[in-house]
Amino acid sequence: MMQKVFPIRSANAPAPDHDGLPLADTLGRGLRDLRISVTDRCNFRCVYCMPREVFDHDFKFVAHDEVLSFEEIARVARVFAGLGVKKVRLTGGEPLVRRDLHRLVAMLAEIPGLDLTLTTNGSLLPKQALALANAGLKRVTVSLDSLDDATFRALNDADFPVARVIEGIEAAAAAGMAPIKINMVVKRGVNDHQIVDAARHWRTEGRGRGHILRFIEFMDVGSTNGWRMDDVIPSAEVVRRISAAFPLEPAEANYAGEVAERWRYRDGAGEIGVVSSVTQAFCRDCNRMRLSTEGSLYTCLFAQQGHDLKALLRGGAADDAIRDSIAAVWRLRDDRYSEIRTAETAKAPKVEMSYIGG
Ligand code: SAM
Repeated sequence: MMQKVFPIRSANAPAPDHDGLPLADTLGRGLRDLRISVTDRCNFRCVYCMPREVFDHDFKFVAHDEVLSFEEIARVARVFAGLGVKKVRLTGGEPLVRRDLHRLVAMLAEIPGLDLTLTTNGSLLPKQALALANAGLKRVTVSLDSLDDATFRALNDADFPVARVIEGIEAAAAAGMAPIKINMVVKRGVNDHQIVDAARHWRTEGRGRGHILRFIEFMDVGSTNGWRMDDVIPSAEVVRRISAAFPLEPAEANYAGEVAERWRYRDGAGEIGVVSSVTQAFCRDCNRMRLSTEGSLYTCLFAQQGHDLKALLRGGAADDAIRDSIAAVWRLRDDRYSEIRTAETAKAPKVEMSYIGG
């Protein structure tokens, strides 16, 4: 296997060009992507994300009148597009549990030049894929951590079967969405023995259809998932294990700041991606802002605090004022959590991923 040389992204590396984007933060990073959490609710209780012991009947989700409306979200997205944002990802929580999400998709699809996508657990795609595609959604990412039914049901802790998620992926493909990316979070001792099986399945199923399997390192997001470094399978190991069965070679990034590193099967059977936010931090290239369910801005997945935008939105502010407020938050940004992560920082209280959007 060809050894990939990972770029060094140390704190002392020169600040990168911010890619011609109009706004730059204190480390020279441009603003390119926006992730929007349309709901902090989910119909799964994945043990590494929304453990049932914490997200139980007593858990206080964001109250309905505090959740941004579709009109508010679309307005913010338009302002972001004016600031140079090229890509919007709808996420959550589970975005498809938000009623009539296709209406929001239709509003966002009207914004010129915006690459719109969505991350979902796939459970509701069989019902919604066509409406979403008709509304203008061209591609989708589906999370599926295991093809083994018992392992998957235990991981989602909602007794949800693999077959139904695969039905969702098929429904999205039949509705014309492509590429379909499949996210697999890998946790040592839980599903890492299925890495090669997953690669085998999706290189066969995805052949010629543009499906791309992506392996995600288990992260210390939020404060509830009991993260330990020992549970992380480094992406380099994922690549090594797959390459022993199906030789891989590195592929070029599609664009600067792309989250997943691409690896191509040497026999032409497509590609995989690895997202290594623990072992190969990519803070230096991070060009993402997040909008929480209730309208706060976050510049890091591991943040402890956000910046309220909803007061402006609901207080009658003009678009210019909203734009200036977003720009001010970005210009002051200096976070690079994954580069300075230690066992101690991992224990710090952080906002939950379901709230700011995964
Ligand atoms: N409900 C949707 C879904 O399941 O894809 C969207 C939200 S979910 C928070 C987005 C992505 O984050 C999923 O692929 C999920 O597996 C991933 N994720 C959640 N917690 C994670 C963690 N601790 N480490 C790595 N990835 C995580």
